[in-house]
Amino acid sequence: MTAGALAGRRGLVTGAASGLGRATAIELARQGACVVVADIDDARGRETANLAAAEGAEALFVSVDVTDYGSVEAMVATAVETFGGLDLAVNNAGTTGAGGATAEYDLDDWRSTMAINLDSVFFCLRTEIPAMLATGGAGESGPAGAIVNVASGAGLVGFAGLPAYVASKHGVVGLTRAASLEYAKQGIRINCVCPGSTRTPMLEGFMGGDPKIERMMTSAVPLGRLGRPEEIASAIAWLCSDAASFVVGHALAVDGGSVIQ
Ligand code: NAD
Repeated sequence: MTAGALAGRRGLVTGAASGLGRATAIELARQGACVVVADIDDARGRETANLAAAEGAEALFVSVDVTDYGSVEAMVATAVETFGGLDLAVNNAGTTGAGGATAEYDLDDWRSTMAINLDSVFFCLRTEIPAMLATGGAGESGPAGAIVNVASGAGLVGFAGLPAYVASKHGVVGLTRAASLEYAKQGIRINCVCPGSTRTPMLEGFMGGDPKIERMMTSAVPLGRLGRPEEIASAIAWLCSDAASFVVGHALAVDGGSVIQ
């Protein structure tokens, strides 16, 4: 994709203080979009906004708790007020949540993981779609907008020991498919990416510095290595761009071949 593919687009990225969200905010800015960098972590969120602005785009940090509907509404309203509209949104904030077998899984861990990973995507879609219908369409091809939800390989296949994570990410894939059918005719393309194991603070936390766990995770990837955040970001930016103008309701695995083996 050429630089400037997203020139003039107005976007937001949740969970943009770290990992995949940070890489995505920077990539959208590099390709010319202005971005709201949204996260619950103010300090690192501001760092991302500075990194995105260094790409020459307008970037604004907005504090958000994606589990709070009012906070999500305020984030979208700020994006529209600041940039004059909304054309792109990347709903990325998430957590692995606690581990454990289903029959022993803690109820509060279940609720909080579902809130951060799945309620959040519903809250974002519920506020972003009306904003795009009212104000989107900065692209040359004239669609109202493009939304990319960040699911996971765990949204396509099962993994033992992470029931809330797997269920929430399957939910993100399902919600993407349902919403994409509802709004395609109105010119909003809604897709999701399903990253495989990618080296971010979340994954480093999950591996806990244990080289045996890292070797095990790496050996599960046909390409023989973990992903880089930039590799997921470039797939997200492509789905946001007019190069993906006929792609709707797709769950794009970006995982070195992990889910097809
Ligand atoms: P990360 O922990 O590095 O970043 C997650 C970000 O989400 C953080 O900045 C955090 O502050 C933010 N966040 C968490 N709760 C929030 C809330 N309530 N409100 C607002 N922001 C909140 O993780 P990452 O690896 O970059 O993961 C990003 C997304 O990618 C997640 O949805 C994750 O499930 C998904 N994913 C990651 C991997 C991987 O291997 N890294 C694989 C598949 C899917």
